[in-house]
Amino acid sequence: MGKGTPSMGKRSKKVTHIKCRRCGRVAYNVSKKYCAACGFGRSSRIRKYSWASKKVNRVRYPSR
Ligand SMILES: [Zn+2]
Repeated sequence: MGKGTPSMGKRSKKVTHIKCRRCGRVAYNVSKKYCAACGFGRSSRIRKYSWASKKVNRVRYPSR
């Protein structure tokens, strides 16, 4: 086991984001209990903004 900078790339502990049940992206924050991508767990509506288009369940938001 190394110490310092060369071993920093091996750090793969602490899962912060898991796969979201709603949007399928690995953006569901375990400790905060909401999805950073679609807002699942925070609100019943899908998190979407005009400045950020994304696909949720193969549907594009905003639809343009
Ligand atoms: Zn999500």
